[in-house]
Amino acid sequence: MNQAPGFYRYKIGDITLTAVHDGFARRPIEGLVRNAEFADVKKAMEQAFLPPDALNITFTTMVIENGGKLTLIDTGNGDSGAPTSGNFLANFKAAGFDPKNVSTVIFSHFHGDHINGFRLKDGTAVFPNAEAMVPAAEWAFWMDDAKMSAAPEAMKGAFAGVRRVFGPIAKDVKQFEPGKEILPGITPIAAYGHTPGHTAFAIASGSGKLMVVSDITNHPALFVRNPDWSAVFDMDGAQAAATRRKILDMASAERMQLAFYHAPFPATGHIGKSGNGFELVPVQWTPAI
Ligand SMILES: [Zn+2]
Repeated sequence: MNQAPGFYRYKIGDITLTAVHDGFARRPIEGLVRNAEFADVKKAMEQAFLPPDALNITFTTMVIENGGKLTLIDTGNGDSGAPTSGNFLANFKAAGFDPKNVSTVIFSHFHGDHINGFRLKDGTAVFPNAEAMVPAAEWAFWMDDAKMSAAPEAMKGAFAGVRRVFGPIAKDVKQFEPGKEILPGITPIAAYGHTPGHTAFAIASGSGKLMVVSDITNHPALFVRNPDWSAVFDMDGAQAAATRRKILDMASAERMQLAFYHAPFPATGHIGKSGNGFELVPVQWTPAI
């Protein structure tokens, strides 16, 4: 850790949110967007003052303190990701938290950058007292043996990773459906397409409201700006694009604050309309505590 701790604390009503940075993974731009010309993607990178050849994809998890309970949404890469990732635990502790005090870990979807921080490679449970809550549609897809054997070779590792993380606690994992509050102030919203059960979360307390939108976009400079572009990570590109437009439209109309997983830290802001797409307007840094 050669920089200041990567956490950012803010309030939504009585709920305290802490964005915790897990680091980044570098990924070439070529081949990143399925349905756009490489030259157009490079241009979008240049317009956002980003290097045109490779993108540093950042990871920002969400910690929720409400009514004396400590809840996480997603866990970062743990010790299974790029060497430039896996900083969640250090930053989480620097923010004053103890993994033993986490009572619930909610997962948005089962890609490795979101689940691997739950269990180290040697099998250690990182949050020994936490219950795991997962989208039922996500569980049904990734835990289906027939889907795993039918999957292309390149995807088999992702299936194996899901089993590595959840296998030892499979019978205790709590599955949820979208649309109904699962913990006080936390309501899952179906945001399918990125993965079959990909989920966003409405956070509400008093008049305070925010939506944790998980991976409805990868980097906003590309996919908020160009919501119809499909990242290679979107398992159903058309469905993901429809979900993205719907949520960004809603956020723009309702002037709702969003929290992303792959936006520049602290990965939260509002959505304005811009041309045929949108723009992420970061919040002003006003720490609550
Ligand atoms: Zn992701």
